[in-house]
This record gives sequence, structure tokens and C-alpha cells, in this order.
Amino acid sequence: MAVNGAGRDIRDVTIIGGGPAGLAAAYYAGHREATVRIVESLEQLGGQVAAVYPEKHIFDIAGYPKINGQDYVDRMVEQGLQFGADVRLGENVKDLERVEVEGEELWRLTTEQGGDYLTRTIIITAGHGAFEPRTLPIEGLEEWVGRGLHYFVKRKAVFAGRRCLIVGGGDSALDWTINLQDTAALPIHLVHRRDKFRGLEASVSHVRQLHDSGAARIMTPFELRELRGGHHLESVVLEDTTDSSLHEIELDEVILQLGFVSRLGHIADWGLEVVGKKQVRVDPTSFETALPNVFAAGDVAYYDGKITLITVGLGEAAIAANQCVARARGVKVQPAYSTE
Ligand SMILES: Cc1cc2nc3c(=O)[nH]c(=O)nc-3n(C[C@H](O)[C@H](O)[C@H](O)COP(=O)(O)OP(=O)(O)OC[C@H]3O[C@@H](n4cnc5c(N)ncnc54)[C@H](O)[C@@H]3O)c2cc1C
Repeated sequence: MAVNGAGRDIRDVTIIGGGPAGLAAAYYAGHREATVRIVESLEQLGGQVAAVYPEKHIFDIAGYPKINGQDYVDRMVEQGLQFGADVRLGENVKDLERVEVEGEELWRLTTEQGGDYLTRTIIITAGHGAFEPRTLPIEGLEEWVGRGLHYFVKRKAVFAGRRCLIVGGGDSALDWTINLQDTAALPIHLVHRRDKFRGLEASVSHVRQLHDSGAARIMTPFELRELRGGHHLESVVLEDTTDSSLHEIELDEVILQLGFVSRLGHIADWGLEVVGKKQVRVDPTSFETALPNVFAAGDVAYYDGKITLITVGLGEAAIAANQCVARARGVKVQPAYSTE
């Protein structure tokens, strides 16, 4: 389809997703003087690191023996946006179509929020897709958000001196029971509907020790049934599922750590080769997908032997960004050193 490009801000590279891989791609493309746009569905950059574990420490990124998640994201944002990428937050990508603008083949990307962008190349760095936290089937539950119910721990200070209950049986629930020890009022209650936890053995042992010392109170197999209070949460009702007995506990904050449901959404309808509903197959020598000039990097990119780690995504982003620069200019792929 022919499109009038007059007055349109055509970018060399459009990056879908502003997590670590997207920010790294923005850096590499910008460093090569390509024009970049990032489209991100959340209202913040930083991907899973900022949304899920901003206050946890990361130990396996080269050059940082230990770094707090949000600190890492802040550095990535500073580095990634230094060349002036156009950032569109709160926009969820929708349709992708091939168009012709003054004889040049481009991609036209639209978003659910009305964004309409022309671009020479695309890098999909959408992680596991737009994600939402899993919830519980309790009537009126969402009305407690902002009044004592949380799906994320964005700032530990919010829980300072507060009586907290964490719901979940995986790593996040265990980790927050451990990581809030220096912040929340003790004991921190940990509720799980099964007796067995799914998390890392070392974390399970640690939490059991906290329980034995009185710093945590493990309640299994229990289920959260009701939240009670007025302006703010005051108590919860838990069911002991072994005998169906109900127990009311006075509390200030409930943190649901039940994992996430994520969807590739519209991206899955673009004619890419989707693997296991959440990833897109790429050629591991170029990171190009089944569509021309559309690349993928980070957790969303799949090839045999793939490992979903930040450090892996950063390397993939560098390859994809250099490919995009070459395609946008019609030249050979050639990396450039950053030292000066
Ligand atoms: C609890 C936890 C701990 C972890 N610990 C480590 C660790 O110690 N070390 C490590 O290396 N890795 C760790 N990881 C994994 C690491 O966070 C991921 O590998 C990394 O975040 C992937 O980066 P990404 O940029 O590919 O995707 P993401 O971080 O998922 O970012 C993708 C972004 O794309 C956006 N997006 C998705 N769909 C759309 C759409 N349709 N339109 C617009 N935007 C969209 C999302 O909102 C998101 O911001 C951990 C993960 C979790 C959950």
C-alpha cells in the first residue's frame, strides 16, 4: 500500500518493549546514528526488572558483582536514551503492515492507543509480552488496590513497620518474605494453598528458619478468602483448607505474589513463527524473524539453545541493532567500537 510520508517522522529503528534488551538496542542503534523510537506498553521503562523486582539484587551481569534492580534500570535508561530516542509509553502495539513511501518499503506500526508509526526496521524486545499479575477469585478484590492490596513491591519503604501478609508459593513470595525482614513489622505472614513451596530450596530453608525464629509465620495449606476494613485494610480472613476453619488476622498490607499471565497479543498475528505462544523464532546469526527487516532480541527471541537471561538479551540486542543499521542504510553489517 502506498502511504504519503510528507511530514511523517520516519525512524530507522522502532523498538517494541523498553526492557533491558530494548534499551540496549536503543543504545547500539543510537550509537550508530540511527534514529530510534521505543514503544512500551507500561508507563515506565525497565521491563520485568522495574516491574517485578526493582528492589532485588542482580548478581550475574558482567561488571556488576551486585546491583539493585532499579539502579540497573536507571543506568540502562541513561545509556539507552542518550542519543535522543523517541519514547512512547503506555502504548500497546497492534497492527503491522508493509507500506511504500516515495518508493521506499517501510513498516507501518499502529498501537491500541492510536499511535501510527513509520519505520525502516523493527526490533521486537517484548519479553514475555504485555504482562499482568495473576489474581484471586475474591469478589471486590480490586477495590483494595491502593488501600492495602499490592501486586508489586515497587518501594520497600511503603511497607516500613507495616503488618504484611504475602500470598504465594513460588520464588517471589519467598524472596519478599526474606527481603522485607528489615522493613516490615515482624512476623511477616506467608500464606500458600499447598504445604510444599515451589521456590529455590535455599529460599524455602531460609523462610522456614525465619518461621522457627518467629520472624515469619508460614500458614499452609491456607487460602485468602476476604479482606476487611474501612478506608484502609484492617484484617483478612484465611481458610485452613484441612478443616475449612476460618481465621481472622489483623493486618495492614497484603502482597499477592502469584506470578504473571503474559500474552504476545497482536504480535502473534503478524505472521511471525511463534514458539510456545510466547516467543518468536529468529535466525540466531542475525536475529531476523520470518518478516523482512523485523528482528527480535531478549526473552521474546527463540532459537535452539536459548537462555532467557539479561546478559544474553544484551548481546542479541547488539546484533539486531547493528543489522537494523545496515538494513536502514543499505550497507554491510559492521560493528563500531564505542571507545573514543
Ligand atoms: C523475579 C525475577 C528475577 C530475575 N532475576 C534475574 C537475574 O538475576 N538475572 C538475569 O539475567 N535475569 C533475571 N530475570 C530475567 C530477566 O528479568 C529477563 O531475562 C529480562 O528482563 C528480559 O529482558 P527483555 O528486555 O527481553 O524483556 P522484559 O524485561 O520482559 O521487557 C519487555 C518489555 O516489553 C513490553 N511489552 C511487551 N509487550 C508489548 C507490546 N505488545 N507493546 C509494547 N510493549 C510491550 C513490556 O511491558 C516490557 O516492559 C529475572 C526475572 C524475574 C521475573
